[in-house]
Amino acid sequence: MSMTQPSFSTHEVFNQSPPFEDVDLFSCDRPLVEAVAAFGGASVHGELAEFGRHWGSAAMAARGRLANENTPKLRAFDSRGNRRDEVEFHPAYHELMAHAAHSGLHNSTWDAQGKPAGGASEVVRAAKFYVAAQVEGGHLCPITMTRAAVAALASQPDILAKTMPVIATRSYDPSFAPWWTKRGMTLGMGMTEKQGGTDVRANLTRAEADGDAYRITGHKWFMSAPMCDAFLVLAQADAGLSCFFMPRFAPDGSVNAIQFQRLKDKLGNRSNASSEVEFVGAYAERVGEEGKGIRTIIQMVQLTRQDCAIASAGLMRSGLAHALNHARHRSVFQKHLADQPLMQAVLSDMALHVEASAALVMRLCHAFDRMPQDTNEAAYMRLLTPAIKYWICKSAPAFLYEAMECLGGNGYVEEGILARHYREAPVNAIWEGSGNVMCLDVLRALSREADAALSILRALAEQTKGLPGAADSVAFIGKAFQRLDGERLARLAVERLALLASVAALNTVLPRHAELFARTRLAATHASMYGAVDLESGDMRALLERALP
Ligand SMILES: Cc1cc2nc3c(=O)[nH]c(=O)nc-3n(C[C@H](O)[C@H](O)[C@H](O)COP(=O)(O)OP(=O)(O)OC[C@H]3O[C@@H](n4cnc5c(N)ncnc54)[C@H](O)[C@@H]3O)c2cc1C
Repeated sequence: MSMTQPSFSTHEVFNQSPPFEDVDLFSCDRPLVEAVAAFGGASVHGELAEFGRHWGSAAMAARGRLANENTPKLRAFDSRGNRRDEVEFHPAYHELMAHAAHSGLHNSTWDAQGKPAGGASEVVRAAKFYVAAQVEGGHLCPITMTRAAVAALASQPDILAKTMPVIATRSYDPSFAPWWTKRGMTLGMGMTEKQGGTDVRANLTRAEADGDAYRITGHKWFMSAPMCDAFLVLAQADAGLSCFFMPRFAPDGSVNAIQFQRLKDKLGNRSNASSEVEFVGAYAERVGEEGKGIRTIIQMVQLTRQDCAIASAGLMRSGLAHALNHARHRSVFQKHLADQPLMQAVLSDMALHVEASAALVMRLCHAFDRMPQDTNEAAYMRLLTPAIKYWICKSAPAFLYEAMECLGGNGYVEEGILARHYREAPVNAIWEGSGNVMCLDVLRALSREADAALSILRALAEQTKGLPGAADSVAFIGKAFQRLDGERLARLAVERLALLASVAALNTVLPRHAELFARTRLAATHASMYGAVDLESGDMRALLERALP
């Protein structure tokens, strides 16, 4: 692309970086390619490269920008005062949804019956999700929830059996119509009420039996993606908190009594609508046993947490790629930024963080792939999902700020993607279980399955043997988790657990970089700023060359 367009009489435009567009977002990312291969996805390189080229195109980037500049609008009423309860989206949002559905981001880990698809389907989908998150995050909310809802619907085989033929298609059908008449469907989730999000036991929304179905009355304070075709909703039934399948249309074809009050005015995630909603005797069918609502919906939540970690890692990857692209083209004091030793120190330290994050999320997805037939992998999934969500999602905002700064002032303006990424980053830590809640979840997994957790810690010790700081970290984690005042130390111990698991995952992909990561993160406490580490110039070059050839 020409960087000098003769459009100004006063000056020429030069020394600006070209847009980071029309690239293959998969193949240009060696740490991702190698992590996918290391965890079972080597044979699908071609499919992932095609996905990477498509999502890396300028046309997809434009859709991402348009969907966020033209935010969804609630149409609560028509001109005559009748309720409509519809949300209108810009066409770019629908196009993003259609492209995501077309490649199976919302269902490819399930077979046609809603059973795990097997093989490396989790790793392969995660690679796509990682790439898609680099282009647009908001639309991935309903995509994630649809994929994850299937795990909760498994508790209610009749609902799973009737919805799966529609969920399993790769069509996106945005029409406002009953789900059973559509070519494809999406699902959302309603748990959080005004008086409590973490503590869902405090839900006040009521469910009253009505024949084989229920009538739900109450509210939800956050319910995202309100144009989903159905929601999994928590409400209090006679036997306690229960999970319900609440469609937008009742079985007689009438619009269900789901009344949207407002859309949230959010910091980021602006292409996605998040509603405040009331249910006025809304029709719903029970999912799982009455009184077992948390146990049922947690199956869904494990998967949305996994996606939060993948998406945050993808956001950081995008920040790094844009920063590197800029630094290789922008000259300051007669030298490219990428050749200035101090910028190299910053970028290579960031590259190391992303490389570890990519390896770690792919390792986690490998556990999701293996867990139906391997109890150790199931234990890894339960212990590490909250730890990984905690560490990766909470590290993303600071990382993206640093990436933005690498572009100087251009990083801060809305025409570039980094300002949007920066505003998007905190939500993955806040929703689906905020930071402290993730730490408490790790403690819960430890207390409920102490033996399994201990064997995971032993395996991590074995996989990181001899690496700097690894043995001390294992001892520290073991001791911290045994203490009665474990909650007080939980953040310290959970972060260390995630770092240790990162070293183990990276050791499977590239041992030299596992050693670097261990030396700068386990053997020493990493400084609060990127680049404040002592990496040798050969290692810095290798990290940057791998990050973007
Ligand atoms: C953009 C957006 C979209 C959302 N979409 C949905 C949706 O579609 N469906 C849905 O159901 N919800 C949704 N949510 C809600 C979200 O899941 C909740 O906000 C989240 O679970 C936290 O609940 P809360 O806001 O009630 O905060 P609280 O539960 O009050 O928590 C506040 C803080 O206290 C901490 N905390 C809680 N318990 C403890 C403890 N025991 N010890 C120490 N610290 C603790 C938490 O980590 C958190 O930092 C959405 C939120 C956002 C921001």
